[in-house]
Amino acid sequence: MINYLYQEQNWQSQLSDLITDPRELLNILELSEQQLLSGALLASNQFKLRIPRAFVAKMQKGNPLDPLLLQVLPHHLELEDHPGFVTDPLGEEQANQQPGVLHKYKSRFLLTLTGACAVHCRYCFRRHFPYQENLPKTEDWDNIRNYIESQPDINEVILSGGDPLTLSNRKLNIWIERLASIPQIKFLRIHSRVPIVIPNRVDESLISLLKNSRLRIILVVHSNHASELDDFTCSQLAKLVEQNITVLNQAVLLNGVNNSAQVLVDLSYRLFDAGVMPYYLHVLDKVKGAHHFDLMPQDIDHIYKELLANLPGYLVPKLVREIAGEKNKTPLFGVSTY
Ligand code: SF4
Repeated sequence: MINYLYQEQNWQSQLSDLITDPRELLNILELSEQQLLSGALLASNQFKLRIPRAFVAKMQKGNPLDPLLLQVLPHHLELEDHPGFVTDPLGEEQANQQPGVLHKYKSRFLLTLTGACAVHCRYCFRRHFPYQENLPKTEDWDNIRNYIESQPDINEVILSGGDPLTLSNRKLNIWIERLASIPQIKFLRIHSRVPIVIPNRVDESLISLLKNSRLRIILVVHSNHASELDDFTCSQLAKLVEQNITVLNQAVLLNGVNNSAQVLVDLSYRLFDAGVMPYYLHVLDKVKGAHHFDLMPQDIDHIYKELLANLPGYLVPKLVREIAGEKNKTPLFGVSTY
């Protein structure tokens, strides 16, 4: 395949050469532009198409139902309104304490340092989030530090989407050092899809800054399907694991993409090949524009029962839903049996 081309190219040039035109994407995949039913281009204007070429190289040419393609291709159904599907399904505007700070949980808070992502996932619960009004600047650091110090329960910071690994290593290092200078912070979690869609993001400089931090680093990657994890991607993830950096995966259960126990079993084993532990399997957040990815509760229940039956316990991700205002993610399976 053509994947090897991207193994040689540095991640910055890949990030600056994203595919943003749905028609170009379909041409590369040898698919007809008829795939873009009326409304899809409008959906793309509302939440722009963004895909790294290295991720497209993992898709199957000629397959309009490729599970990677379905996650990123704008769809006319995104324009439909559905009851309960809203622009801020997790109530994050309420939790937005100050620029960059989203404090939803007791011991940890989210710091959004950028609104940029390497890929736009059509089901993203932050697809309507007003990032530009929320990004912290250097002069906001004192306020963030004061906020942390006023909350002695906080021991962990989560760098979250937009994707923190779209930042340069220099900028990332500045923020990690700032956070490490606060003694009460022990853990730094980085949520990122970039190592999956641009595996070269795991470069020597990133590995070095993560492994040499005073903070215990946990990288939570986001992969929904084993086809995202080719040999090169797995070998890049394994480089982090070899340096004692904890790498976990969170996935989202998506109709048409991974709504099958076998697909999720394959994903767990593939992650484990790379030394990555399955962490969460999220039920879709009810964000406006993502209704077509939703599943019926009985189907979710059936898939998860199959997962439990077919995987060793340590490879079964926790099935959770995030509920606005709750102090933790809500585990779903089996709750009614207690
Ligand atoms: S990478 Fe994460 S934050 Fe960015 S669009 Fe995808 S799901 Fe949303």
